[in-house]
Amino acid sequence: MATQARKAKLEELRADLLARIDRYQDHQHRASGALDKDLEEQALETQNDEVVDRLEQEAKEELAQVDRALARIDAQVGDRCEECGDPIAAERLAALPYTTRCKDCADH
Ligand SMILES: [Zn+2]
Repeated sequence: MATQARKAKLEELRADLLARIDRYQDHQHRASGALDKDLEEQALETQNDEVVDRLEQEAKEELAQVDRALARIDAQVGDRCEECGDPIAAERLAALPYTTRCKDCADH
């Protein structure tokens, strides 16, 4: 895939992730509900918060990886493996635009 196309895909992914993180944070910081909620409902909500927390964490890690790939593209080494320096196969970059490692290194 051409670098420009890959970059466009990454920017899109980045915008998506930022929007998702925003939504998760909205959820976490929403005004707390009525005080007379029963305990069962409160427990459910706590569980839900933990799930959203985890999703937010995952989205942030993904975002960091996208940023890393973009930084490497800007440094002209976007299609090189950050571990062994070999070129990353074009098919791999097309399937995983955010990857910064070749298949061999990613598998190990
Ligand atoms: Zn490698």
